[in-house]
Amino acid sequence: TYYDRIAAVNPQLNVYLSLSKERAMEQAARVDAMAAKGDPLPALAGVPVGIKDVLTMRGVPATAGSKILEGYEPPYDCTAVARLEQAGAVLLGKINCDEFAMGSSNENSAYGPVRNPVDPERVPGGSSGGSAAAVAANMAVATLGTDTGGSIRQPASFCGVVGVLPTWGRVSRYGLIAFASSLDRIGPFAGNVRDAATLLGVIAGQDEMDATSSPQPVPDYAAESDKGTEGLRIGVPAEYFAEGLDPEVRAQIEKGIDALRAAGCTIKPISLPHTKYAIPTYYLVATAEASANLARFDGVRYGHRSKTAETLSAMYRSSRDEGFGAEVKRRILLGTYALSAGYYDAYYGKAQQVRRLLAEEFLRAFAEVDAIVTPTSPMPAFKLGEKTGDPLSMYLADIYTVTASLAGICGVSVPCGATAAGLPVGMQVLSSHLQEGMAFRVARAVE
Ligand code: GLN
Repeated sequence: TYYDRIAAVNPQLNVYLSLSKERAMEQAARVDAMAAKGDPLPALAGVPVGIKDVLTMRGVPATAGSKILEGYEPPYDCTAVARLEQAGAVLLGKINCDEFAMGSSNENSAYGPVRNPVDPERVPGGSSGGSAAAVAANMAVATLGTDTGGSIRQPASFCGVVGVLPTWGRVSRYGLIAFASSLDRIGPFAGNVRDAATLLGVIAGQDEMDATSSPQPVPDYAAESDKGTEGLRIGVPAEYFAEGLDPEVRAQIEKGIDALRAAGCTIKPISLPHTKYAIPTYYLVATAEASANLARFDGVRYGHRSKTAETLSAMYRSSRDEGFGAEVKRRILLGTYALSAGYYDAYYGKAQQVRRLLAEEFLRAFAEVDAIVTPTSPMPAFKLGEKTGDPLSMYLADIYTVTASLAGICGVSVPCGATAAGLPVGMQVLSSHLQEGMAFRVARAVE
């Protein structure tokens, strides 16, 4: 049924880049056999799930939205992907995204943009726009995305679905094609908070293939999400309701805050004054790490190799020139500059110091409140092409999401009303390190 649905709507929405039909049908048959025998079924038995194309699936092309990886078939499964399958999920295929997860609109994919199912003239958000659109258009029950500076939360808000940013280290990054390793996280999208919580419970937990994965035990997130919100203290930071916030988005978030009050929460105004430094800090750290991570794409080990070059160094140069898109090149240039001798302390070193201040500011706030709520994005889904000529205005749209990324804390974007034109608005619910259960509880009271 899901493959029929994909065949019908993919030509318009451009969500799936490749399908893993054989593997999916084998898995479905395995689950059917278990059910027929009366065996107990695992948490996601038979649930159709789509995978962002920056995560590896053995034997299925992985492009990361880039021409440079065209033709690459990874020989191994990403840990999160393998855990979904062990829990009975049926993996449908690989989903479009911004090239190497760099972007906020999905327009940086070398395979064309994804369209927003709510309004196909508009972007689905990015970089995991395809993963959000797949759930919104019922082309999967749930999906995996990745979030480095907002790439799960912002497309969830643009498409009207739930998206989860787990604590950094909560989900193994083994099999995630790296963008900025100290920020990269894998997380689920689903149609409601409880389903998203169930998926996180399956993919989270320590993994011997990722030394940075947390050894903390994984709670039953779905059960955590059932606990209700009576007596919780919710922080509302003034800096996220300042200039630049679309009035219609503000109005919906204020209604969401009223719903929390009605659900027994105490609302506390708070201040996070370093918020204004988050965009420059994020775009220094992210581009610096990207310039290092993307050095491996040299035309030798994976994907595209230039056919014109006559020497080894010319081959490196032209493979990268032909394989990478404009946004990826811009970031490699920015990041290489920020890391270069003489500039390192002024840019990268300074950004690391500000990052620490941002994290400490959040921890101070979480000593007084259980969760913090904000808009996920200052605006609803914008039109295709509206921001492509102006990378800076695209970067500024990440203002509410990059703070939690830099601080390493977790959060959820949950649908919270719509504009008069019917465009979804998302509320971001943030909680402290490894407190995903708290974010789910609060988000349940809003959806
Ligand atoms: N929009 C941000 C960027 O372009 C975030 C991307 C992401 O989270 N992968 O870097």
